Amino acid sequence: KAKQQGRNTYQLYTEDLDSTLSQRVSLRSELQEAIEHGHLSLHYQPLLDREGQVDGLEALVRWHHPSKGLISPATFIPMAEETGQIIPLSRWVMRQASKDAHQLVKQGLLNKRMAINLSPLQFHRPNFLSTLRSVLSETGLAPEHLELELTEGILMHDTDGAIDILNALNGMQISTSIDDFGTGFSSLSYLRDLPVDKIKIDRSFVQRAIKSDKNAAICQGIITLAQKLDLRVVAEGIETPEQYDYLMSLGCDVFQGYLFAKPMPLDSLTTWLMQRERVLI
Ligand code: C2E
Ligand code: MG
Ligand code: MG
Ligand code: MG
Repeated sequence: KAKQQGRNTYQLYTEDLDSTLSQRVSLRSELQEAIEHGHLSLHYQPLLDREGQVDGLEALVRWHHPSKGLISPATFIPMAEETGQIIPLSRWVMRQASKDAHQLVKQGLLNKRMAINLSPLQFHRPNFLSTLRSVLSETGLAPEHLELELTEGILMHDTDGAIDILNALNGMQISTSIDDFGTGFSSLSYLRDLPVDKIKIDRSFVQRAIKSDKNAAICQGIITLAQKLDLRVVAEGIETPEQYDYLMSLGCDVFQGYLFAKPMPLDSLTTWLMQRERVLI
């Protein structure tokens, strides 16, 4: 009986496995093509300080799939991480974002930093720092205009190794932040031991802060802690004036979200920055 059942199960299972596997294989080879043929692009989202001035930009990668349309990085970044494709992909992101940032700096439209999201695999590679140095020298971007966003996962993996790299980045005047803060399995000793400049409160807490006392308490706690440790705090995913007012009242330093600006391609961003400058003058 067990054998019969086993056989039926086996057949069903292989069919399912075949289709998902072939889908995955084709998505993987399509991503390879996208990396090689430039079907990736970057969108940039501005961050604002408490006075409403631009405090920096974040580069967010997009995949323009020939038939599926725009694919979210939330889908393909984890896959690229598994397959190792994240390495060439990240190299492209770093080069393109640095190039664009340098152009904006030269145009007088950016005097703060361009933030780039790092992947664990990329950060822990032995040649990470040398790759970074060569991208900066190739693109002409000053390290004072670069910021790197790390996740708690990156820092947890090899904390001593991470401290060495963070110290080197500090020495190079590149700033660092912990992204999606609060969602990983971080221990608070990280904040004591890791030389980072900023933490970004994950939008899951920010967006629920005015709806739930628990989320409000988490936001308050993170901000108080950050202030005591001399770290700047960013609130991610601000969508409503209520969320903005509340996080402002808690003393957050920097704000990012659809309420102010969505991530946009370089040309729209350039227009956005130019119009803003006019408003401020
Ligand atoms: P993240 O680094 O936390 O980036 C912020 C995400 O929140 C972005 O999603 C952004 O579009 C979105 N966002 C910003 N404001 C709002 C808002 O007000 N409401 C909502 N609902 N969302 C908002 P996106 O662009 O889809 O990126 C998702 C994640 O993919 C990023 O999260 C980051 O972890 C990863 N990612 C994106 N680009 C790269 C990259 O170049 N390299 C690596 N390694 N990861 C990347
Ligand atoms: Mg980020
Ligand atoms: Mg984030
Ligand atoms: Mg996030």
